[in-house]
Amino acid sequence: MKIICIGHNYKNHIKELNSEFPDEPVFFLKPESAVLRNSVFFLPDFSDNVQHEIEIVIRITRLGRRIQAKFAHRYFEEIGIGLDLTARDIQVICKEKGLPWEISKAFDGSAVISDFIPISEFKDINKLQFHLTKNDEIVQAGSADDMIFNYDQIIEHVSKYMTLKMGDLIFTGTPAGVSKMKNGDEYVAYLEGKEMLRITVK
Ligand code: MG
Repeated sequence: MKIICIGHNYKNHIKELNSEFPDEPVFFLKPESAVLRNSVFFLPDFSDNVQHEIEIVIRITRLGRRIQAKFAHRYFEEIGIGLDLTARDIQVICKEKGLPWEISKAFDGSAVISDFIPISEFKDINKLQFHLTKNDEIVQAGSADDMIFNYDQIIEHVSKYMTLKMGDLIFTGTPAGVSKMKNGDEYVAYLEGKEMLRITVK
């Protein structure tokens, strides 16, 4: 199983990072060892600025490569919520040096994921609302219809370069509001108002 993460997919987040608007989806990978379920997230000692990024996550349920956007909806049947945890201080250094980002994005526990819900249970997956609270206060909120590249365009782009396999996860990007996580903080992520995952930071 691989985890594909889309970067720069919400305008307000691109602005807060002072990044450029992409012409096509930008993506990177996290390994399976990055997965964390509901529990405790231990801050790594190599970073002083790990930030949360709440994202809609789709689970691939069919093998495919070179998938056209118009057929992409056949390749995923479930949606969940994830936190793409990012060592922002390390990422900034990697970007400045023109180096790969993996050490800032692929570390243990950096892919927090919820359970998945069948698409049939949602009215319109292109309008899904999601938000993240820190100690009961909303810190990030987004809507799927604000994505620059939608699910189908993402699948078409990624599958041009790598075969998608059953069980692969795609994180679809984060809206604005990312911030540093601190010892003792409790984060709860919601999809359509339903609690999906909860982590405590230590
Ligand atoms: Mg992200």
